[in-house]
Amino acid sequence: MASRAVLAIANWKMNKGLAEAVAYARALPALIRGVRGVEVVVAPAFVHIAPVAQALRGKRVAVTVAGQDCHSETKGAYTGSVSAGMLCDAGATVVILGHSERRRDFAEDETLLRAKLQAALDARLRPILCVGETLAERRRKTTHVVLKRQVEGALDGMADAALGGLVVAYEPVWAIGTGETATADQAEEAIAFIRGALERAIGASAAAGTAIVYGGSVTPENAAVVLAGANVDGALVGGASLDPESFAAIVRRLATIAAGRSVAPVGRAAYNRRSR
Ligand code: PEP
Repeated sequence: MASRAVLAIANWKMNKGLAEAVAYARALPALIRGVRGVEVVVAPAFVHIAPVAQALRGKRVAVTVAGQDCHSETKGAYTGSVSAGMLCDAGATVVILGHSERRRDFAEDETLLRAKLQAALDARLRPILCVGETLAERRRKTTHVVLKRQVEGALDGMADAALGGLVVAYEPVWAIGTGETATADQAEEAIAFIRGALERAIGASAAAGTAIVYGGSVTPENAAVVLAGANVDGALVGGASLDPESFAAIVRRLATIAAGRSVAPVGRAAYNRRSR
């Protein structure tokens, strides 16, 4: 039986000035003191990674720092971009890749994301690959087609991704920042399907050990319900992560879920079901 990490990931997006980011980093460890079984990650803007990492250094409660993106190349003439190695230098150990806002605003596709994943792994950054369907795709009943393309297109044959601590985030685009959360059944069903797609891409045992989190309007109020599915290994949180008290409340809900966990089912059956 695979035992998987449970993660709480705060995606601050393009929010917070320096003072606010550092104040948050100083406050968070005390707010989650005593919490067990949850890996806590915060993703500030690039320019705040180093001071946030510095503020978290040496605390008794471990909180890791993530970049919200990285370039696929290690260096060169890419104005405005940041390499995976630069994120490491700044103190990040994790990187979020393929967030739907980047897919939408920067036309990121599977080919590019595959290269970014490799760049992250080469730099020893733990990658979090975001996948998810739009509302139109769900209404057309092509959710599985989209998830299969996003997972396999980025990860096919990349067995080393699991060794690098790969995390997948299922983030239905219609639930991001909308206040409309997937139901527990929708989240569990899609994540079980993703786990099946991962089996195809990187092999059964790597897939069974890969954490897959849910993201999309998670709040302290809905976390216990939305994140309760047996395949759901935590949450990627946007809006509700901007306030440290609110994010800490979600971390505590996840700790309760993690404490009750013993079985890690694998999603081959769901994957083999007809695309919806
Ligand atoms: C996100 O940005 O990845 C996200 C899940 O945002 P929110 O929690 O605000 O829906």
